[in-house]
Formats: sequence, structure tokens, C-alpha cells
Amino acid sequence: MSVSVGLNCPSCGGAIQISEGDNVINCQYCDSLLWVEGDAGVITVAYKNLQDRDGVLRATEQWWRKGLKAMDLKKKGRLMECYPIYLPFWSTTTRVAGWVCGYEERHYTDKHGNTHTERIPKEEMVLRDYQYTNIACDPGDLGIKYLRNNAGEVSFIDFESIPTFESTTSKDEAVELSKQRAMSDARDDARVPHVTFEKITVIPKRLSMIYYPVWVVRYAYGERMYMATVDGVTGNVLSGRAPGDPLYQSLAVTGGTSIGGLIGAAGLAFGIGADDPTIAIGGLVIGAVILGFTYMFFRHGSEIIDGDFDDKKLGNPLKGFKIAGTKWRFN
Ligand SMILES: [Zn+2]
Repeated sequence: MSVSVGLNCPSCGGAIQISEGDNVINCQYCDSLLWVEGDAGVITVAYKNLQDRDGVLRATEQWWRKGLKAMDLKKKGRLMECYPIYLPFWSTTTRVAGWVCGYEERHYTDKHGNTHTERIPKEEMVLRDYQYTNIACDPGDLGIKYLRNNAGEVSFIDFESIPTFESTTSKDEAVELSKQRAMSDARDDARVPHVTFEKITVIPKRLSMIYYPVWVVRYAYGERMYMATVDGVTGNVLSGRAPGDPLYQSLAVTGGTSIGGLIGAAGLAFGIGADDPTIAIGGLVIGAVILGFTYMFFRHGSEIIDGDFDDKKLGNPLKGFKIAGTKWRFN
């Protein structure tokens, strides 16, 4: 079943009239060139790419200098590829209207030391439009799932020179996902800790497709390949992977090893002194776990990651390593 949503200009929001058979039109309000895609009748825009290769490489080099990335990246990083692509994104507006009722609990202690619980009734009206963007194809290893920017010069002129990724998710999927997110965000925004009753209506209002220019930079450092993506409109780095600096890595390893060793040794000494083998074994186990994480962290090398990367797609069997890895995230 197809979901019917109003046709609006993705650029200015104006209501669009389309005659049967039209697939390229100009918005009557802002004059943007719009394209009506396929049978689905989705209004589509593309933002013009404003970056060039030199600018993209400069942005990548600036990003290399931020945080705890390897300090010799500029010297030792070898550029392998740098090219622009168009990525498709669904852009949706979803209206949420209704009521969330319930109560909030407050605890207080009177002068006799008795604790009382007071229930404060809450009745919150919800009426808001939620806007989301969501990538409409498999982002692969690019680390991009939504748009950071939704403004720019609307033009299809670069479509001839920049490869375009086709959308692979359906309009209905995009609408359904936005409805779920809007419902959940509206509940959070209502701030009713204990809900006893709610009546929320979710209405999809607008749906459009945005083709957004993104530059992909692939580079090598040592034996390993890394990447970064740069926004083709704003010139900002959107996502990326970079090697961590060996100095910080060795500090982390030294710290982890000493703490792991100390806990192990302290557990052993205390356990023997107290004549309690469980303390000694506990200390040894905790010490060994810390040493193990330190070893995993060191073996995989620290990597600094920015962007919407899926933890599962890292192909890392050890979740604990991710915990250590997140310490190296910046921005
Ligand atoms: Zn418009």
C-alpha cells in the first residue's frame, strides 16, 4: 500500500501542483528546479557541489590535525582516491498531535524522618512537526546516515559529471520509520515520567528526496587503509577513520597494564593476607580482564572514528574493545 503525502517543494516547503506526465517542474514559489521521480511521484532535488579536490584535501588535512590522531599523518598519509558522489536521502516532515497524561513522583522526608511520595498529575499537549533525513541507500563504509545540512543551491547540473547512488529503500519504509521516530520523540518531549493515558496521532505531511554531493577520500597510513568524507556543499568533514597516535596508544597500554597488574597483585596480596582465596582470585580475574582489554586495544591499533558508523559493521567480535575505542572519539 502506498502512503499518500502532500507534494511540497523540498527547498522552500511550498505546495506543488503537478499535472499528469510532468517530471521536471519549477517551484512556483522559489523557482527551484524539481524533478518528479518515477512512478512513486516523489519530488526530488539535488544540491549543487561547491567543493573541488584541493578544498576537500585541505579539509581532510585539517581534520587529521584534530584530536588524538597520528601526528605524522600529513607526512606519512598517502592519498589513494578522492572523488565526489551523490547520495540519496529521504527528507520527511511528520506531524504529531495529541495528549500524554500521567504523573510525576516527588519524594520528601518530614521532620519525623518519614518519607512521603507525592504524585503530581501531568497533562501535556503534543503538537509538533518533526523533520528527519535518512539515507535512502546502503551507506556502505561511509559512516553517513543522515544530512547535517539541508540548504544549498538547488541544481541538477552536476548530475552529468558526478556518479549517483540510486535509492534502494522505499518511500513507504521512509514514512514508516519517520512515524516511529516522531512518536518516540514526541513522547520524550512531553516529559511525563509515568504515563497512564495517551492519545497521539501521527500524520506524515511531506516527503521528498534529496541528492546530496559527498566527497570520498581514501588514504593509506602504514599498511592500513582509512577514509574520510567531506560535505560537497559546506566543505566540512562528515565522517572518517584515522589512525590514533602511537604515543597516546602507548600511554593507554602502559596505563592499562599497570592498573591491571596492580589490581591483580593487590588482590593476591590482600587475599593471602586475609586468608580468603576468593579475594585473591577476584583480584586476579579483574586484573586479567583489564590486561586483556589493553591487549585487544593495542593489537587492533587505536582508531579515531567520526560519523554514523554502525558498531556491528566494524566486524569486531569483542564488544569491550569498542568501549576502549570510544575513548578515542572526538567532536
Ligand atoms: Zn520552492
